[in-house]
Amino acid sequence: RAPSCGWGGVRRRCQRLLYWVPVLFISSILCWSYYAYVTQLCLRECLVCLVAYHIFFMLFVWSYWKTIFTLPMNPSKEFHLSYSDKESLEREPRGESQQEVLRRAAKDLPIYTRTMSGAIRYCDRCHLVKPDRCHHCSVCDKCILKMDHHCPWVNNCVGFSNYKFFLLFLAYSLLYCLFIAATDLQYFIKFWTNGLPDTQAKFHIMFLFFAAAMFSVSLSSLFGYHCWLVSKNKSTLEVFRAPIFRHRTDKNGFSLGFSKNLRQVFGDEKKYWLLPVFSSLGDGCSFPTCLVNQDPEQASTPGGLNSTSKNESLLFPAKPLRDSQSHLLTDTQSWSDISAKAEKGKIGMSNPALTMENET
Ligand SMILES: [Zn+2]
Ligand SMILES: [Zn+2]
Repeated sequence: RAPSCGWGGVRRRCQRLLYWVPVLFISSILCWSYYAYVTQLCLRECLVCLVAYHIFFMLFVWSYWKTIFTLPMNPSKEFHLSYSDKESLEREPRGESQQEVLRRAAKDLPIYTRTMSGAIRYCDRCHLVKPDRCHHCSVCDKCILKMDHHCPWVNNCVGFSNYKFFLLFLAYSLLYCLFIAATDLQYFIKFWTNGLPDTQAKFHIMFLFFAAAMFSVSLSSLFGYHCWLVSKNKSTLEVFRAPIFRHRTDKNGFSLGFSKNLRQVFGDEKKYWLLPVFSSLGDGCSFPTCLVNQDPEQASTPGGLNSTSKNESLLFPAKPLRDSQSHLLTDTQSWSDISAKAEKGKIGMSNPALTMENET
């Protein structure tokens, strides 16, 4: 990679500043709406509205802030190629020997998805074996765990670390707009029936209603779409390209049923569901899938560890999802041992043509 000096560096720095323009745009609209609502809209007599407004405003700003400033999570060091593997990968010509290196590097990792050609998913920019649902973001130039999309409105990647915050941001911004539109409606009607005194407040009231109604429409469709994604346990990227598992493509491969899908994003403790604090289940590197049990070669998988898994054919992670709440890989050994056993005998059975995979 070129060092960031000279014109290239200046250009990149300018580009990085430009990325903040949409965030500044949203922030200035938010500040103006606060000013217009609190000082111009004659709500001084309605204390309840003012208190409710401030609650919505606070939750909106809080979740927006968390979506913007929560760093996306990258694959842990287990997924990175060792120095010697990296060297031999560079030395080998593309082909079988290169595939062998990757297969060896991936053999103890909890990965179930493959490329179109059945190869191990490898990022040649980050030099790592991609965990399931991880994708390389071309804007961030990094591999992002459970990447959903890169969102210019928050100038951040939406992925495992901040997907819950992003959903709450959509929900609270929608509530905020609906609340403003609902409470502004009576003044808006007065505006058109000439019942308002001729002051500058008139125009704030009109624009406030227009802006709130306009944003409500676009936010509700986006929020509705993401609610559907959560209920199906899909990411935006997976809608466009269904995940490919070892033996077949399955667009619902990560879905465990509505309740479990919801809990994967929001966590087990209901008291945290509505607050922008991290409570998603899992570590972001491995995800339970019901498909593994249907794999005839994987008869001796440790599904029995999870008491509920027998009935519901929920299999991975080998330990109960509840135990893997910490998003840092603190307890990697336990599952990598088991998955290594489960994977023994599989390696080399299918003979996938390992190829590099590049994604945006
Ligand atoms: Zn990458
Ligand atoms: Zn990104």
